[in-house]
Amino acid sequence: MTSSVTSTDNDVLLEVNNLKTHFPIKGGLLRRTVATVKAVDGVSFAVKRGETLGLVGESGCGKTTTGRTVLRLERATEGEVLFEGHDVLRASRWQMKRLRRDMQIVFQDPYASLDPRITIGESVEEGLIIHGIGNAHERRERVRAVLDKVGLHANQMNRFPHEFSGGQRQRIGIARALIMEPKLIVCDEPVSALDVSIQSQVLNLLKNLQREFGLTYLFIAHNLAVVEHISDRVGVMYLGKVVELSGRDDLFRNPLHPYTKALISAIPQPDPTVRRARIMLQGDVPSPINPPTGCRFHPRCWIAQEICKTDDPAFEEKRKGHWAACHFAGEA
Ligand code: SF4
Repeated sequence: MTSSVTSTDNDVLLEVNNLKTHFPIKGGLLRRTVATVKAVDGVSFAVKRGETLGLVGESGCGKTTTGRTVLRLERATEGEVLFEGHDVLRASRWQMKRLRRDMQIVFQDPYASLDPRITIGESVEEGLIIHGIGNAHERRERVRAVLDKVGLHANQMNRFPHEFSGGQRQRIGIARALIMEPKLIVCDEPVSALDVSIQSQVLNLLKNLQREFGLTYLFIAHNLAVVEHISDRVGVMYLGKVVELSGRDDLFRNPLHPYTKALISAIPQPDPTVRRARIMLQGDVPSPINPPTGCRFHPRCWIAQEICKTDDPAFEEKRKGHWAACHFAGEA
């Protein structure tokens, strides 16, 4: 399966084909590989220009590793990542430096991603210096402008990260990405460390910036309500694989995969008069070191049949633009 089939639009910015990221576990005196963590195990998707593709799933499903591998912050074991047709995984150091300007990341923990010893002005300016962009005056002006865009004041440039709240620090993290004028931003759980009241402000900021600058987001989160708020399309990951992918409304109204149905059933309802039967999943997510045979979800699936224990279901287009990997999609 190639990701070209997950997006029929020609204007694809990012294409990921059969991506695998495996981590060896070393043991014994000779530090031999004794096992392999299959964190990402055959992921394919495409992201169109200007859209937000949400990647969602429980902790340990491989969504963050997918985002980091796309940016080559983790080494891919197999597969292909194409950014505007450029082969990211095989790019030279020089080519990669150019690509990094266009492909930025916003991290989950803004405090950990900021150097506490330098001012936020210096922190935001850093990427421009690394890439040799502008003189000192021009860089300073760009920092001022980008701080303004993310809702901070230029007169805060000389302050240090500890002087800012969590929400403000995430705005600084967004400014660090935005100043490079990227085409793609991988947003790795960008609001999950923030208070709920601040989350919507940061999400709205990301949406406004997307509209203004034509940004494309790969938005990674475990919170389905957050993903629903911001995404145009959504991919659901389970144990290193994408098990369902479709337009947001179709996915939330008519999920086809039992795992997606279970996740959606657990979203809190703001309207107390609306009741939704919660599907309680049995057991924990199995280990990615030794994933179950056949369909990886079968030990927890309430409609599993014999074939599910032996045959890995293909990731297929079940409805127009709606993909799922399940032998009995839509039957739960
Ligand atoms: Fe459940 Fe079988 Fe579908 Fe897997 S393939 S989700 S086990 S019904």
